Amino acid sequence: LVSRDNHPDRSTVTVQGVPIGPDTVTLIAGPCAVETPQQTLEAAEMAKAAGATLLRGGAFKPRTSPYAFQGLGEAGLRILADVREKTGLPIVTEVVDAHDVALVASYADMLQVGTRNAQNFALLQAVGAAGKPVMLKRGMTATIEEWLMAAEYIAQRGNLDIVLCERGIRTYETATRNTLDISAVPVVQRLSHLPVIIDPSHSGGRRDLVLPLSRAAIAVGADGVIIDVHPHPEQALCDGPQALVDGDLDELAQIMQEFPKLVSRT
Ligand code: PEP
Repeated sequence: LVSRDNHPDRSTVTVQGVPIGPDTVTLIAGPCAVETPQQTLEAAEMAKAAGATLLRGGAFKPRTSPYAFQGLGEAGLRILADVREKTGLPIVTEVVDAHDVALVASYADMLQVGTRNAQNFALLQAVGAAGKPVMLKRGMTATIEEWLMAAEYIAQRGNLDIVLCERGIRTYETATRNTLDISAVPVVQRLSHLPVIIDPSHSGGRRDLVLPLSRAAIAVGADGVIIDVHPHPEQALCDGPQALVDGDLDELAQIMQEFPKLVSRT
């Protein structure tokens, strides 16, 4: 279902009127985690100023340590819905448990499945049946074949509104959190008709890499980028070191305006 063999034209997935696909480069931005109403609104305004048309933000956070901030849960979803109301930005947010899919889908415009759940087949089937577009991150140890098969689980439930997100894979390199597999973009675009975006924030784990990797993402033909921003990253409860701050936004906006014009997107 996700293969390009039977579907030669690349697809566009539309989230509340916002297209993600071959005709555009979509910027999705926002806080890694929803922490407070004020922090989420400020981050959303930063995202919008940089040209974002979709707001990201985690209310359910899959953390490596059980002692780390796990997200606000439904209270976080309510904050996101309120910020959507104020900014007009549709919401992309992660669901980590099949039992929470109906709840998260009742607030979200797009459901995110994260790298740690990329082969949680019960979750994939549940999001496939939820009737909302899905962003499926690549598992950090998944081959491209495994990633596409994960997408197939969602598609099999009747949902082809799937956007694939390359967010780095685990390698021997320790200078970055994960290694962004930039070649995954053209490889997947040949194999699958689904849009492919890049997450330069979670792959590198470092603010200084986000803009260079965003340029690389657009240059290689990605259909969008998803980027963490935070008004006060030094106080962030999750992944502060990778969040872009106010001073970075002009450059991000410029990249989003100028770079797509330089790249053939056919
Ligand atoms: C996220 O986008 O909030 C996230 C946790 O990303 P990943 O699943 O890629 O680590």
